[in-house]
Amino acid sequence: MESVARENPAEPSVAQTRDIGRISRAAACGARLEEAELVALLECPEGELDALLSAAGEFRDRAKGRDVTYSPKVFLPITNLCRDRCSYCTFRKGPGDPGAWTMTPAEVADWSRRGRELGCLEALMCLGDKPERAFKQYRQTLGSLGVKSTTEYVARACELALDEGLLPHTNAGVMTAEELALLRPLNVSMGLMLESVSARLRGRGQVHQYAPDKEPRVRLRMIEDAGRLNIPFTTGILLGIGETALERAQSLLAIRQAHERYGHIQEVIIQNFRAKPDTPMAGAREPGSLEMACTIAAARLVLGGEMNLQAPPNLSPADIELFLRAGINDFGGISPLTRDYVNPEAPWPHVARLAERCARAGFRLKPRLAVYPEYVSERWLNPSLMPVVERLERQLAQDGAGGQQHGTP
Ligand code: SF4
Repeated sequence: MESVARENPAEPSVAQTRDIGRISRAAACGARLEEAELVALLECPEGELDALLSAAGEFRDRAKGRDVTYSPKVFLPITNLCRDRCSYCTFRKGPGDPGAWTMTPAEVADWSRRGRELGCLEALMCLGDKPERAFKQYRQTLGSLGVKSTTEYVARACELALDEGLLPHTNAGVMTAEELALLRPLNVSMGLMLESVSARLRGRGQVHQYAPDKEPRVRLRMIEDAGRLNIPFTTGILLGIGETALERAQSLLAIRQAHERYGHIQEVIIQNFRAKPDTPMAGAREPGSLEMACTIAAARLVLGGEMNLQAPPNLSPADIELFLRAGINDFGGISPLTRDYVNPEAPWPHVARLAERCARAGFRLKPRLAVYPEYVSERWLNPSLMPVVERLERQLAQDGAGGQQHGTP
């Protein structure tokens, strides 16, 4: 593939001219975007947004068609104890805080069973980062549960969810290669938001000052380890936490680079920061609709037509149609049972209503598994997981033919 800027060396660089229409069209035809070109797209003026969105939407259409997916899931917040303190987070608790919890095995099994009864297919294991390093009380909790580490406990939770017929997807913060290898046989995919490659955001007064696990090189290392281990992986960027357009571009390019090396990035989430009361960022500006659309479109053009690109529908309920136009092909997990514990103020959309809105915009909403079809093979999945994945794939295909919808509350 050729860079847009090198299409004709006799002409001025398109990045210099910031010709949005030309950069977008060339990228949608397979030209490889470079950093300056991507920054130009991310800073697209409102008057040129149509050209950018059209190119990205058509790129998605050619590779993915007009099906848009979601994963019916049960959200299992194994523990909300976390050693980090990101300045936008309300999920995190310390051991003595009201609302601090660690789920018991019985709770994991019970919520999994109830989720499966409601049509869920995914068990999302989502938890704080490395609480055992910070809290003695939590280390005692782990001891009483008969495990030595959070990862070991998550492995047990995954077994319980599998026993109830759900496919686990773990997002447990930063893990070592050994921890990833321990969880791989029990997960159909795993995830870690890159958020941003900006080391500046770890500085004094910035959002990640007190979050050692948000060190970009540590997160990139884990994303690469997952690639080496052939783990289908979900990552993404968080918009509006103080990053510049250049840093946003560099984050997307780092994801592209990891995927080019290992081929394991099964989906990329473009997530908007939401200001929450009682956090240091309560008064911070949230990214606007056009800024999100512009970033989605730029991400589509830099990551390629085949990438699964997701924006959470509960964080931008008014912008579903705009984001479809900008090139997403997935809404991520939607639960008929559990709330979004990370964004508790943002209810999931009703699946039937979401399907109606998609249909009016010319798209068909379909449930999917926590592993995308292109990763269902023994290269990417532990052999023990293949029979259950294939059975659920057949079930989805039959339900689709019969017009049923999973996860409809
Ligand atoms: S965002 Fe994640 S890592 Fe940061 S404080 Fe919250 S739970 Fe911990």
